[in-house]
Amino acid sequence: MSDVAKRGTAVPAPLAWDYAPAPEARDIVSFEARYGLYIGGEVVEPRSGEWYSTISPATEEHLAEVATARTEDVDVAVQAARDAFENGWSSLRPGERAKYLFRIARILLERSREFAVAESLNSGKPIKESRDVDLPISAAHFFYYAGWADKLEYAFPNRSPRPLGVAGQIIPWNFPLLMLAWKIAPALACGNTVVLKPSHTTPLTALLFTDVCRQAGLPPGVVNIVTGDGRTGADLVRHPDVDKIAFTGSTEVGKDIQRAVAGTRKRLTLELGGKAANIVFDDAALDQAIEGIINGIYFNQGEVCCAGSRLLVQESIYEQVIAKLKRRMETLRVGDPLDKNTDVGAINSREQLERITELVASGEEEGAEIFQPSCALPERGFWFRPTVFTNVAQSYRIAQEEIFGPVLSVLTFRTPDEAVEKANNTAYGLSAGVWTEKGSRILWMAERLRAGVVWANTFNRFDPASPFGGYKESGFGREGGRHGLEAYLRFD
Ligand code: NAD
Ligand code: MN
Repeated sequence: MSDVAKRGTAVPAPLAWDYAPAPEARDIVSFEARYGLYIGGEVVEPRSGEWYSTISPATEEHLAEVATARTEDVDVAVQAARDAFENGWSSLRPGERAKYLFRIARILLERSREFAVAESLNSGKPIKESRDVDLPISAAHFFYYAGWADKLEYAFPNRSPRPLGVAGQIIPWNFPLLMLAWKIAPALACGNTVVLKPSHTTPLTALLFTDVCRQAGLPPGVVNIVTGDGRTGADLVRHPDVDKIAFTGSTEVGKDIQRAVAGTRKRLTLELGGKAANIVFDDAALDQAIEGIINGIYFNQGEVCCAGSRLLVQESIYEQVIAKLKRRMETLRVGDPLDKNTDVGAINSREQLERITELVASGEEEGAEIFQPSCALPERGFWFRPTVFTNVAQSYRIAQEEIFGPVLSVLTFRTPDEAVEKANNTAYGLSAGVWTEKGSRILWMAERLRAGVVWANTFNRFDPASPFGGYKESGFGREGGRHGLEAYLRFD
């Protein structure tokens, strides 16, 4: 018995199926050796003279050299965005703006296989997720907001909506292209121009996207991409000529940004962390709920701000749920992100792997019981087994802190009131899930859960028409839907 299997309760092994490798063709994408900054419609060398290597977290192989933008580079990018805003984009007939967005959406679909492979290579996420989730929803965001571009007067009647100006947008590494789409599509639809900073570890799909902008004939300076680390982001936040900051990332950095823009005229939206409760009542369709629990926490290796990382199970069905869950976990296939059979890919970075490892160790030290399936892990790269903790007290760090990895903490409850109380007992409030057969109970719960999104008998579902955002330390502002337009408009 392996070291790991020994640590968990023994579960009868499910029927073992061996899958032949089903690798997606990697050569559909070719990266340049080096990517400069994308400013004013051109690729430019960084004035900083600094470059860094971006890798594949699954193999640690080098993929490309990427520029580091420093203060001076960010300044040039903001100027380019300002020029584009003043000299045409903001006064363009809205129907014309829509045409560009429709073109971008169509090109993304045409090139979706290439982008999916690039995303999986650079982020570690399984190809079936980048192919079936990230790419279609990214394109859908551009289609959706293209549709709004010439209807803003109808979205906000008698309020004279006008664009804000230059938007500085900072995004994380868990959904690199999708977060770009969430940021850029509504900003452009409303007539703003943007300077976007991708995450340090996952710049490649944003850099490929610059080619989509060129293909779509987007006027120079409407979209600018500056790569780099947190310092580049901080420069963008502090630039005096930026009208709005849109940020998705950690609560810690979000608070920093809020302090930095306090007292300025800059508008701000923050999409931060989460510690979502996924609540299973004893009348739920159990096998469906198990799939929802698995999808809730192991989708994208659990590196999801709205992940269902706290499972709340009604006491009467606890044993049954845990047994089914462990059995299902044994069937998860962990490994090569480019294999079409892979369910759980690589952790995004060594730094993130260390963070997960540290938090999991704290769970064991505090007294929770750990279970991990006995799957083999690749030798190189950053990997973590799907993990579930039982015997978890609410005070444990694994029940309070966002782990941002494939780690589930299980708690129990007896009554709906207790479920609500435990679910809301967190500093966060981004999402929640409710599994029950009773429609009235779904509505009763949704009214009481302090979470921006409440899923009923499903989890991790996204649609461009549906607003997404947080309560409490999960941030403020909404992305998606008509609500998402408001963050990029002024009405005075
Ligand atoms: P982060 O908040 O450090 O980084 C997010 C983005 O902000 C990146 O582009 C980063 O370069 C930039 N940034 C960092 N410091 C900055 C600063 N001072 N000013 C302006 N921009 C800055 O997140 P991370 O390091 O990538 O991940 C750490 C943790 O954040 C994770 O463990 C997870 O808990 C959380 N996270 C949340 C989300 C989410 O969607 N809500 C996404 C990724 C990570
Ligand atoms: Mn960070």
